[in-house]
Amino acid sequence: MRRGFKTWCEEEASNFRKVLGLKEYEALTWENLSTHLNVPVLDASILDITDEDRQQLFKNDSNCWDAFTLSVGENKHMVFYNSNQPPRRNTNTIMHELAHLICKHVPTKIVKLAFPVRTFDPAQEDEADWLAGSLLLPRAALLHLLKKGMKRENIADQFQVSMELLQYRINMTGVLKQVHRRW
Ligand SMILES: [Zn+2]
Repeated sequence: MRRGFKTWCEEEASNFRKVLGLKEYEALTWENLSTHLNVPVLDASILDITDEDRQQLFKNDSNCWDAFTLSVGENKHMVFYNSNQPPRRNTNTIMHELAHLICKHVPTKIVKLAFPVRTFDPAQEDEADWLAGSLLLPRAALLHLLKKGMKRENIADQFQVSMELLQYRINMTGVLKQVHRRW
């Protein structure tokens, strides 16, 4: 990951919260962020596609895709998500799609599934993952809430994320060292 990227992600998490009138330890939902970015996020099952494609997407392949972004004109995008996946998984994958847009990633190629889907190189995928995690669970929020003694289950509920993502962010931010420090 390029130098300074992780710090930039924390700053983005903080800036979006400021702009949206949220405290640093409050949840930034994908609904809130996508509205702010003017990127519609829709359940993919509403797509007007052929029965064959629908069968492929929602029956045969329904567990192996999460979301995709379509280009709908210059600098205009729409995100479609797979509502067959659990809601908290959707939270993370929708944030991941929005993260690609925030990072201004240029797709490496467009793959024709039922429709043209943008794909990215692995470095860009890593960046989108990292930014998504940071936007959902910024280090500052984790520090604040864990110091207050909030239970992990409650943090996951409040931020509508999976326990796996929460645990991953706690580990990666190294925040516990600071929580347990005695002053
Ligand atoms: Zn991606």
